[in-house]
Amino acid sequence: MECPSCGGALTLITETYEIPYFGMVLQSTFICSCGYRFVDIFPFEEKIPMRYTLPVGRDALCVRVVKSSTCVIEIPELGVRVEPGPASEGIVTNIEGILRRVESALKTAIQWGDPDQKRKGKKILKNLWDVLEGNGVVTVILEDPRGFSCIVSEKAVADTL
Ligand SMILES: [Zn+2]
Repeated sequence: MECPSCGGALTLITETYEIPYFGMVLQSTFICSCGYRFVDIFPFEEKIPMRYTLPVGRDALCVRVVKSSTCVIEIPELGVRVEPGPASEGIVTNIEGILRRVESALKTAIQWGDPDQKRKGKKILKNLWDVLEGNGVVTVILEDPRGFSCIVSEKAVADTL
């Protein structure tokens, strides 16, 4: 494969993980000498499109999450929906890691938005920081059309799409 950044040859490094209640996943990391890096994850078993919903307060921040490159992150209370872009990576992380991705998407939106969007974005960011500090509860929804993503918790509600 060619590097989308410089056209050079990409090096592929693979690793496998066992995720409880989800199965084995293959993590593929593409690296180029120019500094380009892209990671994605693929389950070994065939999956069906799923939506996971979890109420997130202080206790849920460390809940394990598998987020593939096609995963949509939604937090209805904050009016946030993060669609996967070309830079969206597949990672094994936790809820805090998911909220940090939302934080960085919001910061980008604030940077490029008009004054009204900046104002709204900053308000949402403040509420998000409250949740990250363990104050307040929001609902985190992960939706993956390939079913490659999962919130690994008994408290997460799983629905087929
Ligand atoms: Zn490159």
